[in-house]
Amino acid sequence: MSPAIGILDVAREILPVLPKLLGEDAEAVEQSLTRLLERARSGEAVDHEIRVLLGKYPATDRWKRDRLRGNDADGVDEKSYQPLPGQRNTPRAVKYACPVSGCNTPPWFPIDAGDVIPSCEIHGVPFESVSND
Ligand SMILES: [Zn+2]
Repeated sequence: MSPAIGILDVAREILPVLPKLLGEDAEAVEQSLTRLLERARSGEAVDHEIRVLLGKYPATDRWKRDRLRGNDADGVDEKSYQPLPGQRNTPRAVKYACPVSGCNTPPWFPIDAGDVIPSCEIHGVPFESVSND
């Protein structure tokens, strides 16, 4: 198996397209991402922070997920996802958001079950799953 694309590769690849994806938000994200990549180079584990950062904006979140999904051409397809036994017909949460009503923090979309659910930066509470309809 060839090595999978990691979140760090995604971070490096997304940098040049940020202005197109985010418009005027791009600069702040670019700075944060550059800093995270520097920390990664010095050996720190920043994967989660990168995921949270890119997950904040629907455009970067989608880009990241599409990029990571490229890995899975020969892997598990999302459509073949099987719920765990005992969770019969439980709708799969597709979106997480701050539970505080009226909070403006953008929702976060998990890529896979191993993703750590982030917390709201404003309210400091963990995101909760939101059904899509
Ligand atoms: Zn909040």
